[in-house]
Amino acid sequence: MFRLYKRSEVKNIVLTIMSQLMPKEVQISRIEFEGPEIAIYIRNPKILAEHPEIARDIAKKLKKRIVIRTDPAIRKSKKETEEIIKQLVPPEAGIKEIKFDEVLGEVIVKAHKVGLVYGKGRSIYNKILAETGWRLNVVRVPPVDPRDLDTLNKIIDYMLSQSSYRLSFLRSSGERIHRGVIFENRYVRITGLGGFMEVGRSAILVETGESRVLLDVGINPGGDGFSLYPRLDIEQLKPEELDAVIVTHAHLDHMGLVPYLFKYGYRGPVYVTKPTRDLMVLLQLDLLDIMQRGNQKPPYTQLEVKKMILHTIPLEYGEVTDIAPDIKLTFYNAGHILGSAMAHLHIGEGLHNIVYTGDFKFGRTRLLDKANTVFPRVETLIMESTYGDRDQPRRDVAELELISTISRTISRKGKILIPVMAVGRAQEILLVLVDALNRKLLPQETKVYIDGSIREVTAIHLTYPELLSTQVRSRILRDENPFDHENVIRVEGRQMREDIAKSDEPAVILATAGMLNGGPSVEYLRMLASDQRNTLVFVSYQARGTLGRRILDGEREITMVGEDGRLEVVKINMEVKSIDGFSGHSDRRQLLAFLANIKPKPKNIILNHGEPQAIYSLAETIRKKSKYLGLPDVRMYTPSILDSVHVAGYA
Ligand SMILES: [Zn+2]
Ligand SMILES: [Zn+2]
Repeated sequence: MFRLYKRSEVKNIVLTIMSQLMPKEVQISRIEFEGPEIAIYIRNPKILAEHPEIARDIAKKLKKRIVIRTDPAIRKSKKETEEIIKQLVPPEAGIKEIKFDEVLGEVIVKAHKVGLVYGKGRSIYNKILAETGWRLNVVRVPPVDPRDLDTLNKIIDYMLSQSSYRLSFLRSSGERIHRGVIFENRYVRITGLGGFMEVGRSAILVETGESRVLLDVGINPGGDGFSLYPRLDIEQLKPEELDAVIVTHAHLDHMGLVPYLFKYGYRGPVYVTKPTRDLMVLLQLDLLDIMQRGNQKPPYTQLEVKKMILHTIPLEYGEVTDIAPDIKLTFYNAGHILGSAMAHLHIGEGLHNIVYTGDFKFGRTRLLDKANTVFPRVETLIMESTYGDRDQPRRDVAELELISTISRTISRKGKILIPVMAVGRAQEILLVLVDALNRKLLPQETKVYIDGSIREVTAIHLTYPELLSTQVRSRILRDENPFDHENVIRVEGRQMREDIAKSDEPAVILATAGMLNGGPSVEYLRMLASDQRNTLVFVSYQARGTLGRRILDGEREITMVGEDGRLEVVKINMEVKSIDGFSGHSDRRQLLAFLANIKPKPKNIILNHGEPQAIYSLAETIRKKSKYLGLPDVRMYTPSILDSVHVAGYA
């Protein structure tokens, strides 16, 4: 039976369990709801530091995440704490900076080797807590040009400077999450607001009798005017009444409009993985910059991006988190880009379970492990279908084709322009090119220029090696930079761009944006398009309406804004080539293999994130192969935008 709890009851349960399991000497001063966590403020951290199993047992019993905070009065001074940290942490850890968050009682240590700061089995963490009363939070500083860590440092500093606001936000959202359920109706309804029967502007509203949650809220890379936005104008979506926003990964078609919600009154949590938070901020700021330069009116400003930062709550894969009185969220690896997640929603103690795949890759890449397939329960699967109607060539075949295309272009003294999304494809292609240079598969003088936010994004990859494939991770932990080579050169400023385009030297240019929808890749295109010795290589999906898609579909005369701001007609004489097989999406074979492997088996499958022919074709294939996939009675849904699917409850 479903239990109905009021908030006061939740607090009572917490107090009862706490009095049973928490030793008296710990001296609890108060208990607060802080975001999805229950914060226990204590005066004597020694016992909990020496016996970390106590806090673990309490969390298990409560089925809630708990955080131990110390009473400010018992914390040692900053100076003493710094000295104790320096005594306890070995010098090889390479501590770069120590900062204090007095509101949350955290000491933030930026260091080269995170593991050495925490100590084996978090032994140093516990010692620091016991001796100083401060909780350690270690941030990895990768060995890169400090400029590449600019955005990352700004995010940390900004959160630190706004710590009091953040605490009050955590308290108010915590009260809301634990407000207790009052079920009048028990139902679960899923409505597509964007990214259904199309690729772009992904947004899904999940409603229950109790709460409302938004899964992704992206921008349409090929859209203009209203088609740029998902349908946020529907009646049941009032930003100020939403319980949570969940962002699966840092591509603009999934997170480009999160700050826009803050412009219209949303003040709740944004659940993300840590790298998604960092990448999302970087890319949103980049988008504002590109739009302003292109004389477009951006949908929000830096102010809203900052508001969003303060409302993010980072989660790790596999961490079960209360996000509403009747909904728990867990992220799982999606294998698509760094930090990408599948979102599992557990609704109403067993009423219904939804898995939303977001973009996912059920296959290994150089950069990432393949997507997760095992979930505690799943009745409804919302699955992306980008390549639902086609298979992709094998990765090694695609790599060979890329290398031979580059060699061929170089031998005729041409340049290769590869438009890439800053996150994902850029790093994957860099790994391929650096490897080819190291193995001498490319002429040794081949320069690889990278332009746009790629350098900063790559630095964020080096900050979270634990989320990358085993091979890349172990190289990073050995202090190598697998994305770097002496021939890889960062481009700075317009002049350098022009010099590269005009020079006679052959070169490979990786530039954003990946669909030629603004950014430096478009500037290079304007300068390189007329020379038939050059080659334009697409390595990722080109959404409808983008310049990339139009060229791919055969357009060879395009109107562009020239240097002087006037329109000019550019003839595309350069070779145009699309190399499939580098995609971060699952192809048809991988989508089907995912369904064959998913455990347990869903009863409903809702297809999204695909053009109509991809979705219809995939639905048909799944129906035909349903027995083989272990889904004999599955119900297939192929909704359009604004269609709703009732997946649970009484009709
Ligand atoms: Zn994506
Ligand atoms: Zn997408």
